[in-house]
Amino acid sequence: MESKTTQKVPFWRSLRTKYVLTYLTLIAAVLLLLNTYPVLASQKMVFQSKQTSLWSQASVMSSALAGPDGLTQENVARVMEVLGDTGLSRVLVTDPSGVVLYDSSAASGALGRYALLYEVTSALGGRDEFTSDYTNGAFHSRAAIPVTYRDMTLGAVYVDEYDAEQGQLLVGIQQTLRTISIVIAAVSLAMSLVFSRALTHRIAQLLGAIRIVREGQYNHRVQMRGRDELSQLAGEFNALTDRLQTTEEVRRRFVSDASHELKTPLASIRLLSDSILQNDHIDPETVQEFVGDIGDEAARLQRITEHLLTLTRLDAETQVRTEPVEVAPVARRVEHMLEPLARAVDISLCLNLEEGLWVRATRDDLYQILFNLVENSIKYNLPGGQVDVTAKAMGDRVIITVEDTGVGIPEEDIGKVFDRFYRVDKARSRAAGGTGLGLSIVRDTVRRHGGTVQAQRRNPEGSRFVVIFPLCGEGGEQ
Ligand code: ADP
Repeated sequence: MESKTTQKVPFWRSLRTKYVLTYLTLIAAVLLLLNTYPVLASQKMVFQSKQTSLWSQASVMSSALAGPDGLTQENVARVMEVLGDTGLSRVLVTDPSGVVLYDSSAASGALGRYALLYEVTSALGGRDEFTSDYTNGAFHSRAAIPVTYRDMTLGAVYVDEYDAEQGQLLVGIQQTLRTISIVIAAVSLAMSLVFSRALTHRIAQLLGAIRIVREGQYNHRVQMRGRDELSQLAGEFNALTDRLQTTEEVRRRFVSDASHELKTPLASIRLLSDSILQNDHIDPETVQEFVGDIGDEAARLQRITEHLLTLTRLDAETQVRTEPVEVAPVARRVEHMLEPLARAVDISLCLNLEEGLWVRATRDDLYQILFNLVENSIKYNLPGGQVDVTAKAMGDRVIITVEDTGVGIPEEDIGKVFDRFYRVDKARSRAAGGTGLGLSIVRDTVRRHGGTVQAQRRNPEGSRFVVIFPLCGEGGEQ
């Protein structure tokens, strides 16, 4: 597992390779388009302009040749002479059967022979023809149109043009595009390498931090500049590590406090049992007394472990089946259970409960909360003192108050009494059989039902604990 997660990612699978390849593929596609589309579009434009110009030149010739006398070598030669230099590579004029009557390149020897050209045959069939191609940096275009007079085909005019000038222009454009493409490709490659390096470097930084924290160094934080998603990820990671560190510290402190709390009664039990065992002449009354003490310490141990188990259960259970619980009956049950204890230490319990107040919780949890608070108010009270429990609705909330006329809590300890194992007066808590966990249980239980609990100093003396829950109807609606 260890080696698997820390393994080096193979080059071909790395994020960096994927990033660079994607980037380059995109750039290659763009460059391919850049190098083909403009050239093809320009070619098409040139073809179109050639078609227009060759057809119009051939039309001029065809109109000049058309007449009632038909076409002969002489009259064609005369007309072509009048028309002068056409600037074309070659001009052919044929009779209706395709025999050449005029050839601008006389040296070819085509005069009097059949013009075996597709364009000519097609033109003699009555169609205007045009073909053009672009090879070796030049445009070679051919056009043929019929010579007609009063719906009679007298022959055909065939023109041929070889244009290297426009071809060179296109070659120039192609070369420029190629140069631009090479520059773009080089810049893109360099940029993709730089960006991917920066990206993977930051990811590696994060990965390194995660590994360090995983090894148990919870105070490690990752420093990342910028405001992008990776910086946000680093921020979230640091926040997570903060929590982890706090949780770990709390856990350590809890384990050490718990062991300490368990150690004390265990040491007492050991000491007392050793005293009984090692002392041969111990009188039965002392043995009785020691065994009684052992029993007390064992009961203490039991209370601590029970409280610890309750806290562990509260930590572990995220989902509880809650139900609407009416506050007053639960408070009366608590009073009923604690009345003997209160009477024994001369404390009077007064209940002032609004009926019909429902909260969403479990009966046991609400009982536990009120029991712990009222029991504390009795334990930390003075003889002749009083404990008041009130419950009332305020808006959409239920406010339960447990207040006493007891020893009170010093200002500086108010915020800490809910901490695990925290006691203001250790000796008093011990003497009263306290574990230092009662209020932690109260706080965790209240919180899991969406409530809050607060400790306050009471004027002129004593303490007040205020629990607030969202009010809920009997049917369960909040
Ligand atoms: P314990 O088992 O020691 O009572 P708790 O968690 O219930 O532990 O309470 C923590 C500490 O808060 C107590 O040790 C006590 O010092 C103080 N405390 C709690 N309730 C009261 C109260 N009603 N009046 C005065 N001090 C109190």
